Amino acid sequence: MSKIIEPTFYESVQLNFDRAAQFTNIPAGLLKQIKVCNSVYYMQFPVKIGKDYQVIEAFRVQHSHHRLPTKGGIRFSQKVNQEEVMALASLMTYKCALVDVPFGGAKGGVKISPREYTVEQLQKITRRYTTELVRKNFIGPGIDVPAPDYGTGSREMAWILDTYQTFKGGEIDAAGCVTGKPVAQNGIRGRDEATGRGVFYGIRELLNDKAVLKKYNLKPGTEGKTMAIQGLGNVGYHTGKISQTEGGFKIISVAEYEGAIYSDKGIDIEELVRHRKKTGSILNFPGAENMDQRKKTLEVACDVLVPAALENQIRLDNAKKVKAKIVAEAANGPVTAAASDVLLKKGIVIIPDMYLNAGGVTVSYFEWLKNLSHMRFGRMEKRFDQNTYLNLVNLIERQSGRSINDKEKAIIARGADEIDLVRSGLEETMVTAYQQIREVMMRKPKVNDLRTAAFINALGKVASDYMNMGIFP
Ligand code: GLU
Repeated sequence: MSKIIEPTFYESVQLNFDRAAQFTNIPAGLLKQIKVCNSVYYMQFPVKIGKDYQVIEAFRVQHSHHRLPTKGGIRFSQKVNQEEVMALASLMTYKCALVDVPFGGAKGGVKISPREYTVEQLQKITRRYTTELVRKNFIGPGIDVPAPDYGTGSREMAWILDTYQTFKGGEIDAAGCVTGKPVAQNGIRGRDEATGRGVFYGIRELLNDKAVLKKYNLKPGTEGKTMAIQGLGNVGYHTGKISQTEGGFKIISVAEYEGAIYSDKGIDIEELVRHRKKTGSILNFPGAENMDQRKKTLEVACDVLVPAALENQIRLDNAKKVKAKIVAEAANGPVTAAASDVLLKKGIVIIPDMYLNAGGVTVSYFEWLKNLSHMRFGRMEKRFDQNTYLNLVNLIERQSGRSINDKEKAIIARGADEIDLVRSGLEETMVTAYQQIREVMMRKPKVNDLRTAAFINALGKVASDYMNMGIFP
């Protein structure tokens, strides 16, 4: 019997691609074109850290130019390498296609451990990286638009915009050169929580899908379901918080860099974050027990396991020990292709990354549109809608002879704010994309996992874009 070998992250993406491709009738040459990374920019630049110069390695990969700009986050991590960035950039293409966000995929990586640098040093590195991108024409609102990823956030995005504007003074749409910016610096409300909120909507959609749940012997609904989360960064935190407050989930285990905790009574995510800020660790959280190894969270018996950290966390060596009923891929590539097979054989449902964490890029798209339109969403219609609803309520009051109090009136007669519109657009996107994945599964009975179905949908859209360009017949 041949031994199954653990694929690398990039190989996993390719294997998943190939598996889906066989269910399509996309010509082989076009499949090849879709699969490859169009441009890979590897750079090394010096930055003065203290008294010494350090040579920093960094990457920007544009996977597909079938739609422009290309789009994807920038990762700061000591583990960054070219293959990893290529895998992440490829996933961005399929993710954008699946949720109908009109971008090609890209990703950036800077090989540093952010913990080892001061804020000033991080700023220097970020600005220098941006300068390299500007020099090679690898950034711009119509070219390639970075965003946050593992190890970066709105602060870094503000530095990127400022550096870009230094070079491109007077460019009217400059603010659209990067997304995930602070709200006060041309960002959009709701971008911070977007990936986590999207993860929650995606899990909720599956848990509303009675037909699929029946196949797996799962009960519908989110209320009272248990959840374990690996990673309490931006994605893990918002997923946990929203799942708890809006979905009624019980979070029974959380893992972070420093260790993992467990409580069958449930862990309040907001309080856990406060505890971590105060003590520097999630460990010794009142009411919870410390686990002996942080990876044990992945093996907890629960309804939904949410890996929200890095790729390759569930592998051949631990896949058999996963006891969750659903694995919700909030991170990119947390389950290797080989481990996916093990989980699927065990009857575990995987909600794939390219769908589940697409909320981030979806709201990035809204931010980019806001930047190009130079206007906050809701500004034009908010008061108009409010007055229309108010007139309606008043009319009903007069006609019925009954009245409601001012507080109730204010709730009904309200025009949408930017945050309402962003959340509404995000929810619509996640619901529609889920339906599209389901539609593939209905059409192709041989496809019985959500990842392959999501890939088939995405590949179909990218292929038809190429065909519309007239490059392929
Ligand atoms: N880094 C995020 C992702 O992996 C967001 C990308 C973006 O907003 O462009 O999807």
